[in-house]
Amino acid sequence: MVRVTDSAPLDVDLALLGGGGAASLLLAALDRHGVRDLRIAIVDPVRRRGQDRTWAFWGHPDSDLDPLLSASWQQVEVATAARRRVLDLTPLRYAMLRSGPVYDRAADAERRLDTIRIVAPAETVRDDGDRVLVGTGDGRGVRAGWVLDSRPRPPARAGRTTWLQHFRGWWLEADRPAFDPTRAVLMDFRTPQPPRGVSFGYVLPVSDRYALVEYTEFSPDLLTDAGYDAALAGYRDLLGLDPTGLRVREVENGVIPMTDAPFPARPTPRVVRLGTAGGATRPSTGFTFSAMHRQADQVARALTAGRAPVPEPAYPRRHRWMDAVALRALDRGGVGGPEFFDRLFDRNPAERVLRFLDGGTTPAEEVAIMNSTRLWPMIAATAGDAAHRVHDRLRPTRPAPAIPPAVVGPAPTARRAGPPSGEDDVRAR
Ligand SMILES: Cc1cc2nc3c(=O)[nH]c(=O)nc-3n(C[C@H](O)[C@H](O)[C@H](O)COP(=O)(O)OP(=O)(O)OC[C@H]3O[C@@H](n4cnc5c(N)ncnc54)[C@H](O)[C@@H]3O)c2cc1C
Repeated sequence: MVRVTDSAPLDVDLALLGGGGAASLLLAALDRHGVRDLRIAIVDPVRRRGQDRTWAFWGHPDSDLDPLLSASWQQVEVATAARRRVLDLTPLRYAMLRSGPVYDRAADAERRLDTIRIVAPAETVRDDGDRVLVGTGDGRGVRAGWVLDSRPRPPARAGRTTWLQHFRGWWLEADRPAFDPTRAVLMDFRTPQPPRGVSFGYVLPVSDRYALVEYTEFSPDLLTDAGYDAALAGYRDLLGLDPTGLRVREVENGVIPMTDAPFPARPTPRVVRLGTAGGATRPSTGFTFSAMHRQADQVARALTAGRAPVPEPAYPRRHRWMDAVALRALDRGGVGGPEFFDRLFDRNPAERVLRFLDGGTTPAEEVAIMNSTRLWPMIAATAGDAAHRVHDRLRPTRPAPAIPPAVVGPAPTARRAGPPSGEDDVRAR
């Protein structure tokens, strides 16, 4: 164990700034790949534990994550006002992972890797090209060969389209069987659509009596606390669930950036950004988890092979361009969200769409994907995007707005699943 003194900064090979999702996956990957001789420090004012988020993602079965999953589904539903489509994802599957097991596994890895934890914020980062000096809130400081930085931050400059994926989910417990545990609802667009943006609900059942039911919007602005509750109650009713037989066991709130603004993945030679801060969030969907998981493995493999801990870009450049065009078409009203996603799943095998969203398709497959969208609105959005890029080059850089915190309501547990309306709406069981 390295000794920490007040006088000199702590000397390590690798400093992880931020110990959330990306860092937890990385620690597990380092452990799994047998890294043992690196001096590692983690700097985070919070030691993440327990269930603070639920990750849903698709991928091939039999990964390192399998023992941690709460549920997985071979089939998912995509619903619009016109139809409900059941998609078979073979050879992929959709899966749900709660944060608790991910943080627990990372804590085990941390112990085996003999990692030093600094429970303080990282405040300054100075890279001299050889070593990186990190100023920490406890005054100790860390000097590292490499810094892997996943602290949340806004993009480097404003994007051409700035949307947010914002959501509230209820973990619902039913008195009697109410959910079909054999399939998840991936996107249900029967929710009332916002004037600017896209909304949908989804259902992730872990049993016939227990499920995460969520209302999500892709749009520029957040709702109010009451707005999320009303939208979720509306979606619950749309699902035909009887509120008197349901209890809200937990509530999840979140905000994820959806923007074509840049998140530089390597701001200086020895600083690598991971997670949302490093561009792992797919602009057109907000999905982040698979890219973080992929990059964690790449970093661990690189370190094991004695190479620099630099992962491949989270998504190919052409995918980021396609996302910028799609976001623009959705934002400027050229394409309706439900129609856009409906056509994607209607005209392509589900497995291809999901691989596309993970950045894993070939250019030929991407042509097929592009062909499944409506032509003229996409041409208009492509032209608009090109003009906007030229315009951006000619004017001073605009700072990006900060990503707002999620709207959090009152104490979540054990309330009836109806909208707040009376004195017995919040009650303990
Ligand atoms: C509720 C929720 C649900 C989500 N669900 C999904 C999903 O289903 N599928 C999906 O693909 N993506 C999902 N995401 C998006 C994404 O996967 C998560 O946000 C993921 O946790 C991002 O990992 P991260 O490491 O980038 O950030 P975080 O997990 O937020 O970690 C950042 C860490 O940085 C720390 N930190 C902050 N300031 C400092 C500082 N100054 N110094 C040091 N450390 C600092 C924080 O304490 C935190 O631990 C979800 C996000 C949320 C919020």
